[in-house]
Amino acid sequence: MPGFSRRSWLLVWLLPLLVVAGLVAALVASRPSQPVAAGVGAPYYPDAGATGWEPTSTVVHVTWNDDLTQLSGTTTLEGIATQNLSGIGFNLMHHVDAATLDGEPVTVAAWGAVNRVAMAKKPLDVGDRFTLEVSYAGSPDGLRTVGGFHQPYSRAGGEILIAGEPESSAVWYAANDHPSRAAPFEVYATVPAGLQAISIGELISEDADDDPATATWHWRAADPVASYLTFLAVGRFDIEQGDADGRPALYAVSHLLAPPERDRALAKLRETPRVIRELESRYGPYPFGEIGGVVTGIDTWFGALETQTRPVYGAALAAAGGDWPDELLAHELAHMWFGNHVRVATWADIVNNEGWATFAAQDVLARRDGRSMDDWLRGIWDEGDDDFWTPSISDPGVDNMFGTTYVRGGAALQALRVLLGDDAFFAIAREWAQTPGARSLADFQAYVDERSSRDLTAFWHAWYAASEAPPREAAYGWPG
Ligand SMILES: [Zn+2]
Repeated sequence: MPGFSRRSWLLVWLLPLLVVAGLVAALVASRPSQPVAAGVGAPYYPDAGATGWEPTSTVVHVTWNDDLTQLSGTTTLEGIATQNLSGIGFNLMHHVDAATLDGEPVTVAAWGAVNRVAMAKKPLDVGDRFTLEVSYAGSPDGLRTVGGFHQPYSRAGGEILIAGEPESSAVWYAANDHPSRAAPFEVYATVPAGLQAISIGELISEDADDDPATATWHWRAADPVASYLTFLAVGRFDIEQGDADGRPALYAVSHLLAPPERDRALAKLRETPRVIRELESRYGPYPFGEIGGVVTGIDTWFGALETQTRPVYGAALAAAGGDWPDELLAHELAHMWFGNHVRVATWADIVNNEGWATFAAQDVLARRDGRSMDDWLRGIWDEGDDDFWTPSISDPGVDNMFGTTYVRGGAALQALRVLLGDDAFFAIAREWAQTPGARSLADFQAYVDERSSRDLTAFWHAWYAASEAPPREAAYGWPG
């Protein structure tokens, strides 16, 4: 997503989360033979995710009431155990009514607001595959997930949106909710007849049920997706479907936007294939099977979010004039390579997402206008004040993860490009972007080190870890 202002009061949320994580750790320790682990224990949001298993498939059936305030759902999770387990941990904020593990009814324990554990009747060994089916019901209204400085569920004017970073899935489906985990995703969203339900991937059917009072929208994303990169929007939308360079394309624009805004938003969404081609020329083939975008009528706290194959854009995309809509489009689409195909190992590595998305978007705009990116880099060097340079971006902390990681992270990549030259830099970028998986910033730096004859130790420190501006020297990418 594009950046937003700092929220220092996040610490108020962190403290109780750490206490919950401690309680979970104590429960885990009391089961020495086959541990059940809830929460990955990652540095920023220790309660998110579940240890001991990797997801291989997620299928969600969710039904909404008439005013879209209550849901009932069933999530089917398939996975593989990566350690011996006496139960399967997952993240969900609703009460679980029933669950089965490989077809057998099992009990589910709730630890804290977001962690649930289905207790296995027979322990799982490393490598065992399993199917967990969980049924639940509740209201997503007011729920805040573990990164909970904003609510992922919003409702206005007969429309809802569930989307958010670092987490959003726990308010509407069960998942191993961690950015390093990804699996193919499918959703059947049943909504009152006359409304549309929009999600990621390919639209398989607009009405997959027999009830005239409801419509069931079936979406399938065959490529693995991390849970924070899914979304659900329900309301009234203009939907345009077509083919873009051989891929199915689907754009949706909310009826809550006034008609002129709606037209501008749809015109901007139609530029998606062009931006994809511009990014492909730098980073190799687009990594997913579908393209698209949705412009919500909800007043989102983020300008846009890189939900996989179909970013969610706020009404800002319909703004007339200026670079912002173009930058927004290029930024979110660049995330398809950087953030979605290559995922972060933990949120501490977020500069791998936001630095690349910022750099790539600036590069798209600069190439269109025939501008040099070196001017952009010099401008950042000139204009960055202490507030800009003081926070480290190599481990920015919860408070700054959506802060200077963007522009400083993007500038660090332009400085690296100056240092290595275009050919070497873009060859590395392309290879990195075309290799899917969850990797850290340290992985990226080692990746570049292996492919460069230069000693980049001082460069990495100055651009990522230091609390001051890098020296204006050629060795740090100063373009002269
Ligand atoms: Zn972003």
